[in-house]
Amino acid sequence: MIRNAIRIGKVFGIEVGLDYSWFIIFVLITWSLAGHYLMVYQDWSPGFRLGLALVTALLFFISVLAHEFGHSLVAIATGTPVRSITLFIFGGIAQITREPKRPLHEFLIAIAGPLVSFGLAAAFGGLLLVGQLSGLRGLEALGSWLGRINLILALFNLIPGFPLDGGRVVRSIVWGLTGNLNRATRLAGAIGQGVAWLFILVGIWQIFSGNWANGLWIAFIGWFLNSAALGSVQQVALRDLLKGQAVRKVMMTDCPRVSPTQNLQQLVYDTILPSGRRCFPVAEDGHVLGLVTLHRIKEVPREAWPQTSVSQVMIPEAQLLKASPDEELYEVMERMSEEDVNQLPVVDQNGQWIGLVARDNILNFIRTRAELTA
Ligand SMILES: [Zn+2]
Repeated sequence: MIRNAIRIGKVFGIEVGLDYSWFIIFVLITWSLAGHYLMVYQDWSPGFRLGLALVTALLFFISVLAHEFGHSLVAIATGTPVRSITLFIFGGIAQITREPKRPLHEFLIAIAGPLVSFGLAAAFGGLLLVGQLSGLRGLEALGSWLGRINLILALFNLIPGFPLDGGRVVRSIVWGLTGNLNRATRLAGAIGQGVAWLFILVGIWQIFSGNWANGLWIAFIGWFLNSAALGSVQQVALRDLLKGQAVRKVMMTDCPRVSPTQNLQQLVYDTILPSGRRCFPVAEDGHVLGLVTLHRIKEVPREAWPQTSVSQVMIPEAQLLKASPDEELYEVMERMSEEDVNQLPVVDQNGQWIGLVARDNILNFIRTRAELTA
C-alpha cells in the first residue's frame, strides 16, 4: 500500500500512485506550458493552448512514469522486488524494497531509467520533425517541449549525487571495484551531499540575483537531495548495527495468549490495557489459531467491540508470514517493510510458536546499541 497517495492502478504487478503534492506540480506545469504556448504561438485560441498544455503535461508525467518503470522492470528481472511507483512533487519514485544483490544489478537498474528518458527524448524529437515537415504546429510544439524535458530528465538524473541514478551508478562501480557496499554507499552518499549543497548554494545565489522563483526551486531540490543522501547512508549504518544479530535476541517470548471466543471489549479491558502489550497470539488448547493486533482491533468501531469475537478479527495462522529465531534482524526488517507488517511470529523448525518480533523491538535494540557505540 502507498501512504499519502491516491492509488491509480497496477501495471506489471506494481502499484502506481499519485502523492498529493503531485497535483501542485501538475497545475504549475500546465499553467506555465499554457503561458509558454501563448508566447510562441500567439495566433492559437486560448482553448487550444490550454488543451495542448494539458496533453503535454500528461505526456510529461507518463514520461516520468516510464523512467521509473525502466528502473522497476530491470529490478524485477534481476530478482529485486518493487512494491510501488509514486509520482510526487519532484518527479517519480520507485519503491524498490531491498538493496540489489550484486553491483552489476545495481548498475543496470540505475542506468535503465535514464536510458528510457533518452529514448523518449529521441522519440519526441522525431515527433517534432514530423510536425515541422507536415506543418502541424501543435505536434511540433508538443514534440519540442517533451523532447527537451526528457533530455533534461535523463541528464539531471545522471548527476553523480546519490541517491540520484548517477550516484547509484557511481556506487555500483565503487562497490564492484572494492567489493564493499558500505564503503561504496558512504562515498556515494558524501558525493551526493556535496552535489545537494551545490544546488542549495546555486539556489540561494539565484534568489539574491532576483531570480527568486527559480532559485527557490533549485534550493528546494538541493534540500531534498541532501536528506535523501543522508537517509541512504543511515540505512547502511543501520545494517552495520544489525549485522550478525539474530531474531532470538530481541523477540518477545511473553505475549499473553488469548481465547478466540473472547469478545474485543473483554480483550481490550481485561488483557491489553492492564498489560500494555501489543501482540496477542490467539490460542485454543495450546494450539495457535492466529494473531490479533492493535491495528485490527482499531478497525472495528468501539460500539461493536462487545459483539465482535477475537476469532472474527484475528489474522488466521495460515496467512501469517513467519520468522525463524536464527534469521538476521536486518533481513527481517526488510521483509517487514516489503510486506508492510509490524510484527512477525517466530516459529521453530517444528512450526511451534516461540515468540514474536515487532518493528519496535528492533528499533529499541538499534537505539540502545547506537547510544552505547556512539
Ligand atoms: Zn531514475
